[in-house]
Amino acid sequence: SIPALKDASLLRDQAYLNGAWVNAETRFDVTNPADGATLCSVPNMGAAEAERAIAAAQAAFPAWAAKTGKERAAVMRKWFDLMLANADDLAALMTAEQGKPLPEAKGEVAYGASFVEWFAEEAKRVSGDVMSTTWSDKRMVVLRQPIGVCAAITPWNFPIAMITRKVAPAMAAGCTIVIKPAEQTPLSALALAELAQRAGVPAGVINIITADAEHSIEVGKVLCDSTVVRHLSFTGSTPVGRILMRQSAPTVKKLALELGGHAPFIVFDDADLDAAVEGALVSKYRNAGQTCVCTNRIYAHESIYDAFVAKLAEGARKIKVGNGFEPGVNQGPLIDEQAVAKVNEHVSDALSKGAKLLAGGRTHALGGRFYEPTVLADTTPDMLVMNEETFGPVAAVTRFSTEEEAIAAANATDFGLASYFYSRDIGRVWRVAEKLEYGMVGINTGIISNEVAPFGGVKQSGLGREGSKYGIDEYLEMKYLCMGGI
Ligand code: ADP
Repeated sequence: SIPALKDASLLRDQAYLNGAWVNAETRFDVTNPADGATLCSVPNMGAAEAERAIAAAQAAFPAWAAKTGKERAAVMRKWFDLMLANADDLAALMTAEQGKPLPEAKGEVAYGASFVEWFAEEAKRVSGDVMSTTWSDKRMVVLRQPIGVCAAITPWNFPIAMITRKVAPAMAAGCTIVIKPAEQTPLSALALAELAQRAGVPAGVINIITADAEHSIEVGKVLCDSTVVRHLSFTGSTPVGRILMRQSAPTVKKLALELGGHAPFIVFDDADLDAAVEGALVSKYRNAGQTCVCTNRIYAHESIYDAFVAKLAEGARKIKVGNGFEPGVNQGPLIDEQAVAKVNEHVSDALSKGAKLLAGGRTHALGGRFYEPTVLADTTPDMLVMNEETFGPVAAVTRFSTEEEAIAAANATDFGLASYFYSRDIGRVWRVAEKLEYGMVGINTGIISNEVAPFGGVKQSGLGREGSKYGIDEYLEMKYLCMGGI
């Protein structure tokens, strides 16, 4: 059941279209991954509602775009303040539908809200450009204007932050947006919409379409096919990213894709070992390993290998697994049965190919979707865990001898999102950082995401960057004015 909220009206069980709370013909259940219990149900919308949402966003666009950056910033700032004021309730809804421990959920509320604060500030700093002319009778100027109606399809692992990271820059730029949150976590999205309404975000600027897995495909098609929707931002798996890219080709839609990762984590012989263990633990087991920047492959230098894996296994065994609402818990359940099946598959595949089990390796005694924090040593490149995103609490550790070998192994993947390494040698820090084929490199740290930094990947991990001073560019078009007769 739903946790007790300080403000019960933050639990919304209708979708949000054109500033109104609306139903659909059918509904689908939202469940708690900790016990499988039904929390409530939300409208199961489809193509017709998606069309209505696009029409609402289109109607709202001219007035929102015509506001000054400062005016949009004022509304967004109110929304930010309301998120922080209601952080406890937002976190409780998130833990209920997503499973992450309550302190982690609170952390995400602050992180998610930080994008709204940041882009509210950036709204005031969108400027054009004046070129130096090569024709003395002409002047050349660049305007930066909002791209138009945008769409966002978001995942369940960060139910608030993956929405605000897209919606905030879009709104700041003057765009309006249709959001299709993950079917597992619509309640966080709807609570955000309730707060946006209270903050005075005009009708149609933000629209939230709720849909189950099957209807999400239908809604996705409508968003891609629409000639009104000029930009689609997606965070999720690489296979779905490819589908959306293909579907967006006919309308030549601008795309921002934050897709899968397979982060390497290299521990060099000159690393601070305890710091490296700490970094590996946080980057691996945060959100039960269900983030696209989670470490998947750990490469430890042969001279410190045994000490490193022993400390890592000791750390993994100390992680308290349980219901995210219980005090002291640092790892909640996995999102669904499929996630547990994938983790089991990766672990049994690795063990069958010769990996050594140092911690965990099975479903937790609590049963259901709880999985023991797992450490596999002596993993080899032929194992699933070394190639596919595990998205679960499994650390795979392997040894290396030279810097070149570690870099080559780290880069031997089609993914290119986050990477990490630990070293105290300044020359090595530069060399390795420059050679890693990744959009992000954590050096002597396992935590890198922040609203001021550009988040995104290279290779098949995606297109574009979110957050930072660059994040708003995604939602702005350049218009070149060439003024003659001067
Ligand atoms: P995950 O494995 O994290 O669930 P997905 O890529 O399957 O990642 O899902 C991320 C988001 O994409 C969710 O909102 C989901 O509903 C949506 N989605 C999945 N498949 C499609 C599709 N074919 N078209 C549009 N949206 C989709």
